Amino acid sequence: MRRLLWFVAAVFVFAAAQIVPASGQVIAAGDFAYTGDNGPGFWGEISPACAPTSVRQSPIDIDRVVLDQKLEPLRVIATETATVISNPGYTLVGKPDNRPTFELGGVTYTLVEFHFHALSEHTVQGQYGALELHVVFADPSLTKLAVIGVIYRVGRSNGFLQKILAAGLPEKSTSAPVTVENLNVADALTDMRSYYNYPGSLTTPPCSETVNWFVLKRWAELSQEQFDAFRKVLGNDFRPLQKRNGRVVKATPRGPF
Ligand SMILES: [Zn+2]
Repeated sequence: MRRLLWFVAAVFVFAAAQIVPASGQVIAAGDFAYTGDNGPGFWGEISPACAPTSVRQSPIDIDRVVLDQKLEPLRVIATETATVISNPGYTLVGKPDNRPTFELGGVTYTLVEFHFHALSEHTVQGQYGALELHVVFADPSLTKLAVIGVIYRVGRSNGFLQKILAAGLPEKSTSAPVTVENLNVADALTDMRSYYNYPGSLTTPPCSETVNWFVLKRWAELSQEQFDAFRKVLGNDFRPLQKRNGRVVKATPRGPF
């Protein structure tokens, strides 16, 4: 019976991991889940980097930050474009036709995909958000990632999310992808001048420690109805908090905490 329950839970949110291979496609790297036999406590058996012995895993609680005057506004260039939303079985993934770019330290990173977690993965001074958007960019060699995280709280209706909802969320991994016409991922980014920055990892197997994280300070809002619709599809697809292990979390002086 217990196994059956785990199976049912695993079907809820399941499956493969994301890395960026030479082709630039996000591929499956093994089965994982958020509960049961393939839950986060066992991800180290799928990929060693996910084990508790690793030192720069994500997500983390954001607290005790170092203000850094040198952190510049994030430079993302994005346009309205047709965006395919698919359900790989463990999240909802968006891929814009015209890929946005992110200028970082003189290097142009290109968007790989964006996806959602419910609840949030990062917490701020112990506070969880309802949802977290991860906008994933890769450098030209596809070995370094830069991910912008946006945390949502329940409040007013969100225009960016509404465009996706209006197309109809693909509810299962077997559901056909949907296309959202004229979606601009930049509309989801709250305030690019105000963020936290720290070195971390993918939050799903293979948990590669190659991610330069940018978590925006200003939370976005979504309505209760919007949250319910996303939660129904996403389930609980957030990894538990990981140890900070002495890492410095930088923050822009601008904005709240
Ligand atoms: Zn993510």
